[in-house]
Amino acid sequence: MSRRDELARNLEVVRGRIAAACAAAGREDDVTLVVVTKFFPASDIELLHGLGVREVAENRHQEAAAKSAGLAHLDLRWHFVGGLQSNKAAAVAAYSHVVESVDRPKLLAPLARGAEAAGHRLDVLLQVSLDPAGSEHRSGVAPEGLDELASRVAGEESLRLAGLMAVAPLGEDPDEAFERLARVRGSFLAQHPEAGILSAGMSGDLEQAVRHGATHVRVGSAILGPRPEVL
Ligand SMILES: *Cc1c(COP(=O)(O)O)cnc(C)c1O
Repeated sequence: MSRRDELARNLEVVRGRIAAACAAAGREDDVTLVVVTKFFPASDIELLHGLGVREVAENRHQEAAAKSAGLAHLDLRWHFVGGLQSNKAAAVAAYSHVVESVDRPKLLAPLARGAEAAGHRLDVLLQVSLDPAGSEHRSGVAPEGLDELASRVAGEESLRLAGLMAVAPLGEDPDEAFERLARVRGSFLAQHPEAGILSAGMSGDLEQAVRHGATHVRVGSAILGPRPEVL
């Protein structure tokens, strides 16, 4: 089977899963598929584009910068979903359309500066931590910190607060984690009704995320295959 056929078949399966999850939740099928292309070559992204994919995500700055530059002729929206260092944030903002992993105020000024220099407005998602309070490897801002971070985003003209992003913690039932997320999002939306994106759900838990209101799912391995082990 050609790589194109393999990607086409996997895409069809994932799109079917999303449609079924929407139907089961009594929702319209209006969930955006963001394909996480980290570790896979630009040639795969070109094939995906040919198969109708328009939103892709990367999690490492150097790799994302190289791929987005090489594929600048394609109408793709680039999401950045990785851990961000503040000294790289301006560079990430230059090629990204959406940065999903904003978890602290220190990132905002460099993101805004990078977006402004590139002449665009950058969509920002606040990454909310679903880890239990006090756990060690928390990534994302604690739910209590969301409003403060959101109001700081509002102070940056070249940033647009677009919504929330979350990853279900390892070792917890994603259905419970995303149920918690839905509650956090409910009160967040009451304060920030314009920030309607909820990016949640990956290859293994997109159904649970859709059930709890995800508007965007981030799917990698179910479409591209297993990634090489990271050492
Ligand atoms: C890699 C990654 C994904 C995709 O994970 P899969 O399990 O391969 O679908 C989604 N979100 C983030 C933040 C990631 O880093």
